[in-house]
Amino acid sequence: MTQKLLMTRSVLNPVAPIGVGTPEVESMGSYFCRLAMSHCISAADLGHTVERAMQWSHSEGWRWHGISLSGMSDTAHDWACALSKLTSVDNLHSLTLLPWRDVIAEQSARPASAQWCPHCLADDRAAGATPYFRLSWDVGAVSACPKHQRRLVHVCPDCGCANTRHKSVFVVPGWCTSCGGFLGVGDSEPATPAEAWIAGQLGAMLAVKYDLASRPSLEAMLDGIRKLVQHLDDGKSARFARRIGLPKNTVRYWLTEGGTPGLPALLRIASQSGLTLPKLLAGDLTEWPQACADIHDLNSLFPDLKERAPRKVRNWDRIRAQLAALNESSAVVSVRETARDLNVNVRQLYIHANEEARALAVRWNEHRQRLSEESRKKTSELIERVYPEIAAKGKAVNLREVLAHVPKEDLDGVRDVFSVLQEMKKMEQSRVA
Ligand SMILES: [Zn+2]
Ligand SMILES: [Zn+2]
Repeated sequence: MTQKLLMTRSVLNPVAPIGVGTPEVESMGSYFCRLAMSHCISAADLGHTVERAMQWSHSEGWRWHGISLSGMSDTAHDWACALSKLTSVDNLHSLTLLPWRDVIAEQSARPASAQWCPHCLADDRAAGATPYFRLSWDVGAVSACPKHQRRLVHVCPDCGCANTRHKSVFVVPGWCTSCGGFLGVGDSEPATPAEAWIAGQLGAMLAVKYDLASRPSLEAMLDGIRKLVQHLDDGKSARFARRIGLPKNTVRYWLTEGGTPGLPALLRIASQSGLTLPKLLAGDLTEWPQACADIHDLNSLFPDLKERAPRKVRNWDRIRAQLAALNESSAVVSVRETARDLNVNVRQLYIHANEEARALAVRWNEHRQRLSEESRKKTSELIERVYPEIAAKGKAVNLREVLAHVPKEDLDGVRDVFSVLQEMKKMEQSRVA
């Protein structure tokens, strides 16, 4: 494949996507960041380059991470086509949910926040491979890693911030965009059997390779569901609806009006019929019900979220005393983390313990500032160390070369390599001028 790629001439580097045809297929968002890196430009600049090449009109305030590249929208489709064209890498649709856009309702497939499996990223790095984001992490129903059977996380282990996986102008997949720490450290909680089952089903779905012409069709899938209703409940859709724990009108809507089910609903059907998710989506009942898998307990798979937790009465005097003690202690923690430990909302903390929470925030910011300065110092020392080595080979000193020349263990705690490098270059240029 690499040989074939090297032979092609394309506008953008023909970067090979990772894991196509496996449950661990790369997401388009991840591919996009790696493509930008291969050109040593920011993801934002790559976005503008693609827009110019495709002669798309720019929208003011456009942000590359604002578009759902890995999803199943028309935008995802346009970008997949454009990137395939510009890189000459065929069928980049495989890095999105587009092959399933006819059989899964679009809204149902989006995750609430950017999540990842730290163990997968750690494995990538340990194997000397490029850390990348898996497409399954961008699927709403998935909350666990099928490979490691652990829960996905969405908070940086270093700085405690959420939404720092890729929401930035410049992204190196696997490193926090806020503090630059590696996202593949630390442990995550074990997944429940239900979470692992759902992740496994989605993994199996993503492992099926479709080109856009052969992708599953709504008619075939609804036909399959009709057959299930016939076999399991004598064709009575109300009884089938009860079986899968959904309102009867929902099931009737799919079957009589051709409505597209959401992903949670499809998982319910798979769990109660024993059909695997990929077979259900393809409407393929050829081996059913002979090769019927286990039927799962619906309540443990889909706990009723509507049941509200009783309102908690908080002892704010005690909480304020706890915060005051934290402010005196040598450990520095963020307000967000403290709120999480106390099981309180951050806003409530600021309302009821304002003085203490603000003091905590000041300490945290000073601490981060200090860490950031130390790490930038370490980073510039590191770059200075490898600079002569790279220059001696006649190569340009850029992010890729720096990362390639630094031993893996030295990269721990190293942050902002890109921006430090830019700064050093600017200083060097002004010195020469
Ligand atoms: Zn994993
Ligand atoms: Zn971070």
